[in-house]
Order: sequence, then C-alpha cells, then structure tokens
Amino acid sequence: MHSTMQNVPLSAARLLRHSTSTHGDSLVATWRGDHFERTTYGQVGRRAAQLARALRDELGVHTGTRPEADQSVVGTLMWNNSRHLESFLGVPSMGAVLHTLNVRITTQQLAYIINHAGDEVVVVDGDLTGQLGAALPHLSGKLRHIIVAGAADPEALAHFTGFVHDYEDLLAQHPADYPWAEDLDERTAAAMCYTSGTTGEPKGVVYSHRALYLQSLHLVSPDGWNMSARDTVLPIVPMFHVNGWGLPHSAAHVGAALLLPDRHLQPRPLAQMIEQGRPTFAAGVPTVWTALHQELGTGRYDTSSLQRVATGGSACPPALMRSYHDRYGIDFVHSWGMTETLGLASAAIAPSGLPAEQQWSYRSTQGRFPAYVQYRLTAPDGETVPHDGVSTGELELRGPSITGAYHGGTAGQPARPTDSFSPDGWLRTGDVARISRDGFLTLTDRAKDVIKSGGEFISSVDLENRLTEHPAVFEAAVIAVPDPHWGERPLAALTYCEGACAQLRELSDFLAQHLSAWQVPEQWAVLPAIPKTPVGKIDKKLLRQQYADGALP
Ligand code: ADP
Repeated sequence: MHSTMQNVPLSAARLLRHSTSTHGDSLVATWRGDHFERTTYGQVGRRAAQLARALRDELGVHTGTRPEADQSVVGTLMWNNSRHLESFLGVPSMGAVLHTLNVRITTQQLAYIINHAGDEVVVVDGDLTGQLGAALPHLSGKLRHIIVAGAADPEALAHFTGFVHDYEDLLAQHPADYPWAEDLDERTAAAMCYTSGTTGEPKGVVYSHRALYLQSLHLVSPDGWNMSARDTVLPIVPMFHVNGWGLPHSAAHVGAALLLPDRHLQPRPLAQMIEQGRPTFAAGVPTVWTALHQELGTGRYDTSSLQRVATGGSACPPALMRSYHDRYGIDFVHSWGMTETLGLASAAIAPSGLPAEQQWSYRSTQGRFPAYVQYRLTAPDGETVPHDGVSTGELELRGPSITGAYHGGTAGQPARPTDSFSPDGWLRTGDVARISRDGFLTLTDRAKDVIKSGGEFISSVDLENRLTEHPAVFEAAVIAVPDPHWGERPLAALTYCEGACAQLRELSDFLAQHLSAWQVPEQWAVLPAIPKTPVGKIDKKLLRQQYADGALP
C-alpha cells in the first residue's frame, strides 16, 4: 500500500527557505575584532541567491537534482563569517556541492583535496589568498574561478590562469532571487569534507541532502543540542571542520541567532565576544575550552548568558566540564563524531531524576546515538561484543548520515577499503569503546592510540582524564612507547597551568590513588605546549614520532 503522505524531499534548500522567510529577521553577526557586523538570515538568503545566480549564470557552475547529475564542486577557504554562510546555505541549495577547505592544512594537502574533489570554483577570504596562491602551482587545472571576499594579497593569485573575481562586485551584478532546488532526489550530493589525513592521504566524504536535514533535526532535539529560535549560537568550531558540525544547518533549521567569530579564535577575543554578543549556546573542541577556561579565570568577563556548550572531536576532560558547571553555571554536552558521520553523531544527556554525582557518570561519556544511527562493537576476531558497559570492541555504525564509502575510488567508483568498512557495509570507526545497556558510549581509545602493556590494555583517555584533574596540570596526552619487557608502556606528555608546577612523583602518586600501579606511567615529558592538529586536537601522531624511543626531552 502507498502511504498517503506527500512525497516531499528533505533538502538543504528547505532549511535555507525556512530560515530566510520564517526567521528572516533573526540575527547573523560576524565579529570584526572589536564589534559585531550585523545582518539577518533574510539578508544572507538574498545574497546567497545573488551568489547562486553568479555561479550558475556567469561562472557556468553545473547544478543537479539527481545523484547521477554532473554537479560542480564549489570550494570555500574561509573563516566563520556571514559570507561563508552565504556559500554554506546557497551552494547546496542551488544543486551544486559545497566543499569546505581547511585553512590550517599543508599546501600539499590543500592542493591534493582541491584536485581530488574536482573544485571548479573556490571562494576565499582575502587574508587566505596567500594559502590558496601557494597551492596553485600544484593544481591540475580544473579550478577555473577564484572569488575573493575582502582585500586580497595582490601577489598571491598573480599567476592564476583562470578568472579572479571580487565577491561584492560579482554579487552586485545579479538579482537577489533564485529558484532553489527544493524538489530533488534527497540522496543527491549537497556537501563534502575530507578527513584531516592523520593516517595516509585525506579521504573525501560526500554528504546527501537527506543526511544534512536529518542531522539538523537531531541537533535541535533535546537529546541532541536542544537548539531553538530562543538561542543565540556561537559556533567556535570552524565551518570547515566536518561541515561545521552541522551548526549552520541546525541554526537555520530553527532560526537561532548566529554569532560568527571569523578568524578571532584565541581565548581573549572569544571571551570578549561572549560578553558582548551574549550567546546562550556555543560549540568547540575541548582544547578551545581549556584555553578559554584560563582566560575566564581572570574574572574580567561576564559570561552569564552562556548556558550550554557542545564539545567533541576529542575526549573532553570531565574535570574541565565540572569546573565550567561549578564556576560559571555552563552545562557541557559531550558529543562524539567524525568526518565519516557528518560531524557529531552522539550526545551525552544524562537521564533525569538522578543525583548530581550519578549524572556526571553519564555526562562524561560520549553519549547516545539517535534512532537513525545503528551501532555495534566488534572484537578483532569479528565477533559482536555485548553492550554490558564493560566489554570493549571497535565501534561500527550504519545509518543515513554515516558514509558507506569514500569519494573517488578507481574507475569512478567510490572506494570501500576493508579496514574502513565491514564485509556487510558498516563503517569501522577505528575507535575502541564500551557501550552500556542503555546505549551510552564510552570511548577508551582510538585503535591506533591503544597502549598494550604486558598483554593488558591501558586506556590513554583514563590517564589523561585523571591527570587533568590535578590542579597543576593544564593539558595532558598519553601515548604508547615501545618497551623491551612489556611491549609498550604509557608516556605522559603534559603542560602546567600558568604559574603552577608539580613534582612528577606527586603526579604518579596522584594517579596511583585512582588507578592500578602498573597503569601509572614511568616516563614523562613536560612541554611548553602540546602539539595540535589542523583542527585543534592533540596531535598524538606527532608526539609518537617525537618520543619513538621513549626518550625524555
Ligand atoms: P581526524 O580523524 O583526522 O581527527 P575527525 O575530525 O573526523 O578527523 O576525527 C574523528 C575522531 O575524533 C573520532 O574517530 C574519535 O577518535 C575522535 N573523537 C571525536 N569525538 C570524540 C570524543 N567526544 N571523545 C573522544 N574522541 C573523539
């Protein structure tokens, strides 16, 4: 029997239309260092339409409404600002594919992903033209147009053989309406992102309209990030990091006001922005919150507007979440996700009615998945591991927002490497975890970060969480180093809080209070700073290279 429901697809264009009509007066503000430049969703929508007209009618961008269509890929190399939002909402809604480029990767990686994705147009912030210019000699020639938003480095693009346009001049020549592609096959590509290439070449993941829409529904729900039209949202996570964790789409979904930090991602400007913009909700990786915590400790800022924070991308130390709660009344929602899962896919919301202390045992986990994401744990021998809150295995996922392949395999077919996908097509995340009977996920390690000492596993995450509970420790990262007797032993790298210090003996004793003696590291590296990846996560790969011999600095 056919349902009697109307056959209306879930599309990015629906989110754009809804935000620009129903919520057309809601605020979109970009931080310019000392003030907010203010606009509205309505205005963003009109300018997105001008951009879409320019892309299609002047630059020859191909649009499509079916997965088989030949859609053009439009790259963006931009900070979080309202112009980036125009591309973010407009490019998928016109039926082209948005490809957000990470501003912090190497020139070789930037060139590799522009070539691999087949970007025909790149929209670039003026102050990032140097980065794009450096990649130009390595490009394969498919890139035909560069659109520069703001003042460019005059030399940077001098040797580009295609066309360079000024963003505002281009928009000014086109009308502010566009027939957005609402009536499409919802499996059509809307956007794409690349993994940051911590192992091997970056891998491309292509998101469908359906996936973007479903994920935005999850994020606005109370068991996600509970975003609503009453919120003012500060996405600190860059819009190029895994599709901006879905924040631009979920904010548009409910018309939440947006505060965009542009390039001002250091603790002091962020604190000023919070005081002046008065966000109710913000999102960023744990290292951002660690650094901001120190700045807020000066007591100079009014953060009373901020009620909730979403964090993820790496494990957030529970001690940090508690301190924000106790000192500033800010509740953290710890989430887990990866490029392959369209950003954050789980959220740690504690069941209601529990005593405060018990709530923390839920809020410190990586949370629960929404109904449309299926999960399981698999042992190295392929056996399914029970969800008993104790047994661990590799997390595998299946669902409409989970990738089933990587972009651009051989002969035009998507790539499905066996180390990334199970024989029955589930995504192998490479994360080792346990899951409770009621579905709460706790990550114990990344498969490549696991420490196996004398045949027993030591969780680097447990050690890091304990270390950051010590008042003198600012950040901690634990890695495995080779050991002739035990196979591997943990090495703890750490930084101290400003003006603080502790004897390593004191730190060992502190750990021994909570962990078995054999789990406590003998090797330590006290560093001026812990190395970070291009998206601000702790770079364990680099630490492993630096301490391959386990040598102390
Ligand atoms: P990359 O693999 O290059 O870091 P991603 O941003 O896709 O790029 O990273 C996804 C990985 O980040 C996950 O597989 C997981 O290991 C880690 N991660 C994400 N969220 C969390 C979290 N809340 N706790 C612990 N690890 C996390």
